[in-house]
Amino acid sequence: MPPSPQTVVVDGLGLAQEMRKEMSEVIGRHLSQDRRAPCLAVVLVGDDPASASYIKGKRRACKRIGMESVERKLPKETTEAELLEVLDELNSDDTVDGILVQLPLPGGISANTIATAIDPAKDVDGLNPVNVGRLVLGEPCHVPCTPAGIMEILERFETPLEGAQAVVIGRSAIVGKPISLLLQQANATVTMCHSRTRDLADVCRTADVLIAAVGVPKLVKGDWVKPGASVIDVGVSSVDGELVGDVDTEGVQGRAKIVTPHRRGVGPMTITLLLANTLSAYEANLA
Ligand code: NAP
Repeated sequence: MPPSPQTVVVDGLGLAQEMRKEMSEVIGRHLSQDRRAPCLAVVLVGDDPASASYIKGKRRACKRIGMESVERKLPKETTEAELLEVLDELNSDDTVDGILVQLPLPGGISANTIATAIDPAKDVDGLNPVNVGRLVLGEPCHVPCTPAGIMEILERFETPLEGAQAVVIGRSAIVGKPISLLLQQANATVTMCHSRTRDLADVCRTADVLIAAVGVPKLVKGDWVKPGASVIDVGVSSVDGELVGDVDTEGVQGRAKIVTPHRRGVGPMTITLLLANTLSAYEANLA
């Protein structure tokens, strides 16, 4: 691949706005045919300020595209059994298309038990084992929002994936594993790296597509990046009160073909794909 003297810094917010406009037009068409608006239910347990702010952002994003959202705020003392009851209620409510339980959950509540209790058709975070299994099998399913957003970015930037070498750093259930599967389904040859990977820098240098989903500030240095590679920085860490990504964005300038910035990169696309998953759950519900 030739070197890229001009690295394109991906405008994730711009892409997200484009997609949200498309979705708001689709919702407008449904409303004009006297259908109800799609509806996302968000469940927050406890009073973590970061979680409360994420939920607020998600509800605002729903409103802006004409999507309804309902919020269930539960005290931090809520037991797993009580949360399961709330989920039962939302599962059987025909006017709720998507359900999102904000993570992390307080101690004593298993995130896996909760994901398993959400109706797979309403599991817009894609964490129910049924959706995870369908993703592994390559069947239609709700895909976790961050990996789905990354695939949209790669597609909209016409990144060739067929036969490409892809390296994913991080193997979480929410980012690393699903993005590895999606890249493999797009016929990339995928290498998954983690905290025990030897010679990480050398592995990264083989990548045509490099995804960093770690949470270690500026782990990926400029000289880890193959000239012409597409670099997606998922990580977000706080250093001295400032948000920092996993990639040394300045260091990759002039080497990478594209790079996502740690602000206005993958983040806005994650929320947008939550909206997209809810819209597709709504359309399946109507059908
Ligand atoms: P996670 O569950 O903590 O997983 C981190 C992964 O990184 C693990 O697989 C871990 O390996 C690996 N790792 C840790 N240190 C490493 C090192 N020095 N070298 C290589 N691998 C290393 O995190 P996550 O939920 O996937 O999130 C990752 C980052 O993305 C976080 O900063 C998070 O805030 C951010 N994030 C952003 C968005 C967004 O929308 N922008 C969405 C989700 C997550 P082991 O498995 O061996 O422990």
